[in-house]
Amino acid sequence: AAKAAGKGQYCFYKSEQYQTLMNRINSQATLERAVNHDQFVMHYQPRFASASGKMCGIEALVRWQNPERGLLLPQEFIALAEATGLIVPLGKLVMEKVCSQIAQWSTMQLPLVPVSFNISAFEFNESDIPGGLAQCLERHKVPPELLEVELTETALVADKGGAATALATIRGMGVKCLIDDFGTGFSSLSQLQRFDTDVLKIDQSFAAELGRTEKTATFFRAIVSLAHALGMGVVAEGVETAEQLRMLLELECEEVQGYYMCSPVPAAEMAILLEKRFRMSLDAL
Ligand code: C2E
Ligand code: MG
Ligand code: MG
Ligand code: MG
Repeated sequence: AAKAAGKGQYCFYKSEQYQTLMNRINSQATLERAVNHDQFVMHYQPRFASASGKMCGIEALVRWQNPERGLLLPQEFIALAEATGLIVPLGKLVMEKVCSQIAQWSTMQLPLVPVSFNISAFEFNESDIPGGLAQCLERHKVPPELLEVELTETALVADKGGAATALATIRGMGVKCLIDDFGTGFSSLSQLQRFDTDVLKIDQSFAAELGRTEKTATFFRAIVSLAHALGMGVVAEGVETAEQLRMLLELECEEVQGYYMCSPVPAAEMAILLEKRFRMSLDAL
């Protein structure tokens, strides 16, 4: 546009490139303020044991309470946080919130299940996660069995040598490690071989395909038996229909998570679900 106008600079301010740059600087500044003022809250989504229907874990998912735009989902800000490095202080907030929430639920004497939270690849490689975890658990007097971390294959692949050690330290502390979005990374199987982890969470894109093609059931069957042979557990993520749930139970996938059973809810609602020992309904199957 600047070239077309002939007079150079002035037009640069109106150019699309310039606007994109300004928007980015603005969003980065806004996100930085949000982190400094802690405008984040966690929502919680249960996962269930297929055999009993009991709640067997809870995933903590971050939301941005934006003063102008309301409650924002991770898709609106996690990528920017990763690109700017803000994911490191944001991740610290998340870890702190999760530990403090577990401590609060314990004080309320609720029947607890382990709570997991997500750690980005960049965060895992750039900051001292094991050290941070140890401090956080200690500060809140939370037993490590009540905390779990979710890492993607990318976090392990991006390894500069430290990931395997960090992973071993975390597990050595008694905190379980779940591999998130399994099946979408580049080298799933070689990672499985190189890293000891506790649970595979099969990416939601696979549950979405169940019932549509026979191949997907085969994939689940293979992953479930591979995980079991390696002494690991499996969770199917993103279960949205009774039909998908029914198939997953048939495939002996031992844990399930998804909107069909329960959507992510605010902490206060999760406290109620814990209190009443909420179970998934198997009625419609
Ligand atoms: P994820 O860890 O794989 O989390 C599962 C996502 O799927 C969540 O989206 C959840 O709300 C959504 N979900 C649950 N059940 C269903 C279902 O039945 N169908 C479908 N289509 N989706 C379902 P959410 O909360 O928007 O989070 C998206 C992603 O953002 C997460 O994927 C995770 O990678 C990232 N994320 C969330 N919280 C944090 C966090 O505290 N720290 C970091 N670093 N990343 C986070
Ligand atoms: Mg996750
Ligand atoms: Mg996932
Ligand atoms: Mg994900």
